[in-house]
Amino acid sequence: MKVYSFPRGGLSFDDPTVPPRNSSVVAFLPAFSVIPLTQYPGGRAVPLVSVGDKVREGMLIGRGRAPDSANIHATIPGKVVRQVEWKDNENRRCDALVIRMEGAFECLGKKEENFLKQNVNYHELRELLIDYGIVEMEGSGRPITDILAEISGAGKPQTLVVRCVFDDPWLAADYVLCWERLQAIVEGSFIIARISGRIGRIIFAVSHREKEMGEAMLAEASRYDIPSSMMLTGSKYPQRNRRELELALRGYEKKEGIELGALLILGPSTLAAVHDAVKYHRPILDRYVAVGGSAVRNPQVMRVRIGKCIGDLFEECGGFVDVPYRVATGSPLSGKPVLNLDEPITKTSYAVFALLKDQAGDHLKRDCISCGECRSVCPVGLDPEELYKQIQVAHAAHNPDVTECHGCGCCELVCPSHLPLSDVITGKTGAINE
Ligand code: SF4
Ligand code: SF4
Repeated sequence: MKVYSFPRGGLSFDDPTVPPRNSSVVAFLPAFSVIPLTQYPGGRAVPLVSVGDKVREGMLIGRGRAPDSANIHATIPGKVVRQVEWKDNENRRCDALVIRMEGAFECLGKKEENFLKQNVNYHELRELLIDYGIVEMEGSGRPITDILAEISGAGKPQTLVVRCVFDDPWLAADYVLCWERLQAIVEGSFIIARISGRIGRIIFAVSHREKEMGEAMLAEASRYDIPSSMMLTGSKYPQRNRRELELALRGYEKKEGIELGALLILGPSTLAAVHDAVKYHRPILDRYVAVGGSAVRNPQVMRVRIGKCIGDLFEECGGFVDVPYRVATGSPLSGKPVLNLDEPITKTSYAVFALLKDQAGDHLKRDCISCGECRSVCPVGLDPEELYKQIQVAHAAHNPDVTECHGCGCCELVCPSHLPLSDVITGKTGAINE
């Protein structure tokens, strides 16, 4: 079977400090849950409860202001004991409600009732996604109804792409989720197709090494009446990036002689959450998180309540082997620094890692030796060395190539001089001589 990929650049890499991908463990319920009112790039949810109020598990405690923010729910039962504020790594003000666990759980351990009926209409299903605060849990964190509204004007045909592309070992949590909740993911994708009303095909885009997973999804999908197929992708990073995945999909479209039209690309965590909201009327209470890195004693994939503090997760993984040099959420290639271990897991935290100094490598920074490695791996065909040097002398603003960079981090990963190429080019750290 043909493997579809992107034409140039990219790289394959492994990381032995990633947790094993064989199963997940359920993290302890948090004694305190810190629920941020801003979990998305958009606006802040308006709090509906105050300090001193009692809340139930799954209760709506913050109302999103559509289209750019989503509803927020209590993930444990208890009492709101504080409202806290902090600044994140981009100096943005964050605030959160702190819930102290008390009382009985209404969802945990209960048999879930199936509310999904054949005669439910599009509007009712869509309202459920809003009510239960469903967002894109990989990447942007945008409300899912916002994404659906954006594609609705694209006309027909439309194709839903279920992205199961494992090009980065730090996607371990999604990998485990795919096997443990395969039926929910597939059913979630057909629910999205039903809500959209314009999706005529579902494609399971699966890394070629995970062909067995794709076949299992396809077998499950055969129960439904929308055509579905599997596209095997390359597994070189950044295959799952929208640009690289679209290149592969357009190649597939041409080769197979089918018209895909506009593409709605969603990941497994989002589709499982869609399934739970529509079928069980359940908000996002938890998510799969990969916890690891060289500073962590026992890396593992954990199923974690939203709002649990990151420091507590490291404790549950046996604590640190030594003082961590860098702690962040996401992948080390594109992670977001964690400034305080009391920061919580949010709906988009697919991984948290703590690295020892040797693994972080920043301290080994040297001058560029013009080896050209960065050019050879850039999937966009840029010259990262040149852009980096231009930014040093503040000329990059005149170079349109800067806007082409999608911050994949390939150049930075291969640079023998450990230069922060991606961060500087994308402006995350600004000009290095500032
Ligand atoms: S990989 Fe690093 S050292 Fe080599 S050319 Fe690029 S910036 Fe210079
Ligand atoms: S971060 Fe930008 S410059 Fe570096 S490899 Fe990726 S796209 Fe190219």
